[in-house]
Amino acid sequence: MGLKWRFLTLVSVVVFANFHGHNHADEAPNYSFIQEATSDPQVSFYDYIIIGRGAAGCPLAATLSTRDAKVLVLERGGSPYSNTTKIRMENFITTLIDRSPDSFSQALVSEDGVPGKRARLLGGGTAINVGFYLRGETSFLELIGLDEAFARESYEWVEKKLVNKPVSLEWQSAVRNGLLEAGVLPDNGFTYAHINGTKTSGTVFDRKGNRHTAADLLGYADPRRIRMEIL
Ligand SMILES: Cc1cc2nc3c(=O)[nH]c(=O)nc-3n(C[C@H](O)[C@H](O)[C@H](O)COP(=O)(O)OP(=O)(O)OC[C@H]3O[C@@H](n4cnc5c(N)ncnc54)[C@H](O)[C@@H]3O)c2cc1C
Repeated sequence: MGLKWRFLTLVSVVVFANFHGHNHADEAPNYSFIQEATSDPQVSFYDYIIIGRGAAGCPLAATLSTRDAKVLVLERGGSPYSNTTKIRMENFITTLIDRSPDSFSQALVSEDGVPGKRARLLGGGTAINVGFYLRGETSFLELIGLDEAFARESYEWVEKKLVNKPVSLEWQSAVRNGLLEAGVLPDNGFTYAHINGTKTSGTVFDRKGNRHTAADLLGYADPRRIRMEIL
């Protein structure tokens, strides 16, 4: 596939990631197992200690807690539930460029000198990113040796809590039609599949513009076996 088509495909999927969609949950959950680190007992024992409650840490912690393991998760940043306005769709850019000490996003410069951002809160990158969602390529699953049925089950586990089908507004529909007219084919309609062409994929924003983050996956956790500390 030529560079132009790769670019157009990217544009088509990113543009549609920003629409409002159907929601799974409108209210922030109240996780009793999230504590300030200062309230921790002097000595505690855990089977697993996970550092960072981002896209990887939250689902890992939730899963381990339901498999008979006692889990401690440490997070350096705050909680998006302390100020859900900051993670709403219309505040995406404001939050990303916020340079205040308690900002949810942290500026960084890569070793190659490229400036970027990384998250500093419960939910990690899923609480500050563009919110675009699609499943991995089948060839990638083969490459890393992940069973396809297990991967599908895992995708559905995530999608149930976080992912919404976007609603296409007028201008976005125009862009979509433009891509199709320009020959970015096939027209895949709405799909989570990682395939070429024009498609509308998932978004973590619900129809009200509320963001759903990896922290929502903690709803799967066994609260008796998990402790999360804000450092
Ligand atoms: C601006 C932007 C837009 C993006 N857009 C998309 C998108 O649309 N779709 C998509 O799929 N991906 C997107 N991504 C990428 C995606 O968000 C990341 O790939 C993903 O969040 C990485 O997951 P992770 O668990 O590795 O790290 P993170 O989700 O970043 O989690 C790391 C966590 O560790 C914590 N932490 C770090 N150091 C410490 C420490 N020393 N002690 C305690 N805690 C610590 C951090 O505060 C953070 O909560 C985007 C990323 C950015 C920055």
